[in-house]
Amino acid sequence: MPRLVMKFGGTSVANPDRIRRAAKRVGVEVAKGYEVIVIVSAMSGKTNELVGWVEDVSPLYDAREYDAIVSSGENVTAGLMALTLQQMDVPARSWQGWQVPLLTTDAHGSARIEEIPTANLDAKFAEGMKVAVVAGFQGISPEGRITTLGRGGSDTTAVAFAAAFEAERCDIYTDVDGVYTTDPRIEDKARKLDRIAFEEMLELASLGAKVLQTRSVELAMRYGVKLRVLSSFEEMDDNAGTLVCAEEDIVESNVVAGVAFVRDEAKMTLISVADRPGIAAAIFGPLSEAGVNVDMIVQNISEEGRTDMTFSCPVNEVARAEKAMADAKASGSINYHDLVADTDVAKVSVVGIGMRSHAGVAAKMFTALQAEGVNIKVITTSEIKISVLIDRKYMELAVQALHDAFELDKVG
Ligand code: ASP
Ligand code: MG
Repeated sequence: MPRLVMKFGGTSVANPDRIRRAAKRVGVEVAKGYEVIVIVSAMSGKTNELVGWVEDVSPLYDAREYDAIVSSGENVTAGLMALTLQQMDVPARSWQGWQVPLLTTDAHGSARIEEIPTANLDAKFAEGMKVAVVAGFQGISPEGRITTLGRGGSDTTAVAFAAAFEAERCDIYTDVDGVYTTDPRIEDKARKLDRIAFEEMLELASLGAKVLQTRSVELAMRYGVKLRVLSSFEEMDDNAGTLVCAEEDIVESNVVAGVAFVRDEAKMTLISVADRPGIAAAIFGPLSEAGVNVDMIVQNISEEGRTDMTFSCPVNEVARAEKAMADAKASGSINYHDLVADTDVAKVSVVGIGMRSHAGVAAKMFTALQAEGVNIKVITTSEIKISVLIDRKYMELAVQALHDAFELDKVG
């Protein structure tokens, strides 16, 4: 029998009524002849509440107990979903991660999936079970302890099951009806994309379009899992939502697929560091050890053996970065004149696989920003993305200007 994975996010299982509504969709797929694996998140707000309790009881908590606690939200929704399906005469059973088992590393709080043996679920399907409801976000470590996959991890659970059970597709039901060319709250002409390539989605996901956990897109790309993002609040329709798929499956597309942004960035510049072999390692080694997520890096031309080094990181990591640099200076491994932090910047990026074969995207982007009088502070590029750092107060303006310049409201 063909198989389907259906994942329901927190808002789609927020209460018994919503669970019934989601279960009805599952019933429709079962009636079409699918064996379905349903992956559920915790009810919306539940995981935050659990994390809050952990931090209240123990600010420097033991990550193993954090996982034991925060994974529990999904256990509740898995059981409720199985019961709801049974009420509708659909043969269903719930499974916690360890029962499947979903085997992970022991990196508590952000474990990675190692393997999903299919034998247990396969045996139940063979006995006539139509729906396996699996608690998302959780697994079991080699030591036999409960692990979690990081916030938003149920998406990754869903894709991993789709790969392991060779599902025809992995449908991610959420509270938005698909992936947009940019955030519709910023640009009301934002258009829903029918299809988007894995590579583009990865850039958009990690750039702040928080529709899917980045890991889940990486996994889907690696295993060629067709992912569909759709709303559980709209009418059911075979073409609803956005299909995240391989480049070959996209017929028509614009050169630029979308405009992404990260609001709370900081730009840090080390002024006058020695320009010698090993200096970048001496700077970025300590930053990474301090857990600073460095994004863009720009090194200036050197003058008289000294250079300036600029990097960006999330605003809330600035203090950590400053301390790491001050410590490195005190230890003598680096020497700089000053460390200047600009905490009022945002990153705006244009993304599209079409850039590989089209020249002039950068020029068009910079011209559009210039027309609005937006000053660019840092530029970085990759094969399918151009990112700029700008003053945060111009972020919305820049997103709108770029959306217009690349005519993203129209299909290419
Ligand atoms: N409930 C977890 C979270 O809120 C996992 C998920 O929903 O994907 O992060
Ligand atoms: Mg999510």
